[in-house]
Amino acid sequence: MSQKKKLWKKPKIIEMEIGICSYCNKTLLNTNSFVVFLSTDKNGDREKAHYSCMEKDDYKKLVEKEKLKRTGTA
Ligand SMILES: [Zn+2]
Repeated sequence: MSQKKKLWKKPKIIEMEIGICSYCNKTLLNTNSFVVFLSTDKNGDREKAHYSCMEKDDYKKLVEKEKLKRTGTA
């Protein structure tokens, strides 16, 4: 069996602003990795955020949860 080698050309991505990150309030580009939430902002647009910002926030929440568990005030 001979394997055909295909040259995969990366499609050219035009950098575009797609919104504002709801965590850091910085511009979101379509070339960033981002997440879209089900919630909408005041303009009726879906809320978006950098993936890295969401990850950081998730981690923060997790840490806070753990803290609450330890102090028993949850
Ligand atoms: Zn962000």
